[in-house]
Amino acid sequence: MNGSNLRALPLALLAAAAAAAAPAPRDASPEVSERIIGGALAGNRAYEKLAELTDTVGPRLSGSPGAEAAVQWALRRFAEEGVSAHREKAMVGHWVRGAERAEVIASPTAAALPLAITALGGSIATAEGGITAEVIEVRSFDELRALGDKARGKIVLFQHTMSSAAGYGQFAVLRHRGAVEAARAGAVAALVRSLATASLRSPHTGAMEYAEGTPRIPAAAVATEDAELLHRLIARGPTRVHLVLGCGRQPDVESANVVAEVRGREHPEEVVLLGAHLDSWDLAQGAVDDGAGVAIAMETARLIARLPRPPRRTVRVVLFMNEENGLDGAKAYAKAHAAELPQHAAALEADSGAGRPLEVAVRAGEGAAALLGPQLLPLSVLGIGPLGEGGEGGADIGPLARAGVPIASVRQDMTHYFDLHHSAADTLDKVVPHELAESTAAFAWVAWSLAEMPAALPRTPPSPTRAEGAAKAAAPAPVSGREESWRAPR
Ligand code: ZN
Ligand code: ZN
Repeated sequence: MNGSNLRALPLALLAAAAAAAAPAPRDASPEVSERIIGGALAGNRAYEKLAELTDTVGPRLSGSPGAEAAVQWALRRFAEEGVSAHREKAMVGHWVRGAERAEVIASPTAAALPLAITALGGSIATAEGGITAEVIEVRSFDELRALGDKARGKIVLFQHTMSSAAGYGQFAVLRHRGAVEAARAGAVAALVRSLATASLRSPHTGAMEYAEGTPRIPAAAVATEDAELLHRLIARGPTRVHLVLGCGRQPDVESANVVAEVRGREHPEEVVLLGAHLDSWDLAQGAVDDGAGVAIAMETARLIARLPRPPRRTVRVVLFMNEENGLDGAKAYAKAHAAELPQHAAALEADSGAGRPLEVAVRAGEGAAALLGPQLLPLSVLGIGPLGEGGEGGADIGPLARAGVPIASVRQDMTHYFDLHHSAADTLDKVVPHELAESTAAFAWVAWSLAEMPAALPRTPPSPTRAEGAAKAAAPAPVSGREESWRAPR
């Protein structure tokens, strides 16, 4: 049977198949794969954790009371399940949304209409009463620069053609950097077409940045339908928009990463790190971004903690704070654990939603595939084949990747991830429990395998990562053509 046939089976059967049919790799008894893979598939525990996080804690933007409640919840949940966990301090940015609205100003070529917009994370407010200006649209920073003085005093609308998950890496630079480039062209505000693969007129927020020496202008995302509307109106004649944003940055707040551990039996000083991020945007429950990753990571810790024998190396689950708007938790972890990074044997991050697992990949030194590949055989029950190349990691483990830590990834089905990502539609009902269970099984098995393999993976020569790529994107960046090395924080 191939994986897709198996996927049609009820979960209980799939779990039984995991136990009985899966060939055991060299270092794993069938009993261990039954406990980890079968255990993840048989229960509904990852989904139950996710439901509790999303419905009882809710939105958890870094610095907010919701974020602190999420820290408390995770510590309590780990304790209830017998997993040792603690908080590690991180000072984090605290940005608050406030009121926000925009509308098309009526003219002979345009009817008045409220626009579906939402401020980008980190944006300043508009002046009291808002901004009213003509909108000019561009599709790249090159096009903006070629306009010369024509953007002066206007609102720049950044259009793009994102139509699949792969487009995010290409176009996220417009959201991150749009306000800086627009301000340099003399614009008074920036609007960015939402980075979305589907829309029922919901705008998608996300992080943006300002640059030293460049005026700060307000920036917001506009729903794709309204970006299309503005495009049509601009073709008819000069189009003016009124924009009001009440958002702004508050003083930094003391917050925390939540760190849980199952100590290794032979090499406790060697760490396999599984990350996810506890913070979310404020517009919704953050179910797929990244509540799902938090549930996967916490359930992984539980499954490994209850094995009769811990793996050789330590498995450390880190629920990072502030991935979305500053990566302050990731920076705090890398700083606090700098001396230990050479002992980090591998890292992976669950920040690609709740879809089913498709492939496992690794980025490590020469010979890594020969070591890790055979360990993945039990995942064939999920339809996962040979090890892929080029583990992407996640934004939080960027500092580890830069330090040469081998990076593994479980690639998940992200077909609908960017329909929901950073929007009010990122709610629990979008998560399919058995898909989340399958991804949990894959992450837990990979984490356990990395911790149990007799020899650690060979380390990676330092190479470009997302964080470095983000700096690169700060240069006049092409927005056409692929930027292979850059993935914006998810
Ligand atoms: Zn995100
Ligand atoms: Zn994320």
